[in-house]
Amino acid sequence: MKCRFRCGCGNVFNGDENTQVCSACGRPLDLQNCGAIQLYRMGNMLGMAVGMGIYIDEQPFGHIGNKESVRLVVPYGSHKLHVTHSTNRRCNDPIITITPEAPVAFCKVHIKAGFAVNTMIIEPARPEDMPPV
Ligand SMILES: [Zn+2]
Repeated sequence: MKCRFRCGCGNVFNGDENTQVCSACGRPLDLQNCGAIQLYRMGNMLGMAVGMGIYIDEQPFGHIGNKESVRLVVPYGSHKLHVTHSTNRRCNDPIITITPEAPVAFCKVHIKAGFAVNTMIIEPARPEDMPPV
């Protein structure tokens, strides 16, 4: 499964369930205390070639392409999830809580077209809403 990690050194990188250390500094990741937010970007004709920028607690967490799904590894706790698209920064910014009892949260995001600006809407999803990764 494709996973994305953010190390304390600031490095954001892709790995999988066997990833143990940061790809930049080599420090072991604190995976004992982590769960994940699995984010799925629903297919949409609006700006589909442009990657969405992902931010968790205001920190960049890489990009997600059209119809892509990525598992974002985060520590247990509550996290603000935000996405941007091109120059568009409007998002509903949900707070996602990850606990040892519920270690994976599933979310889907789509672009809602507006008169002047588009808004990114992130909604809770079920595991079966996710495409295979
Ligand atoms: Zn690092």
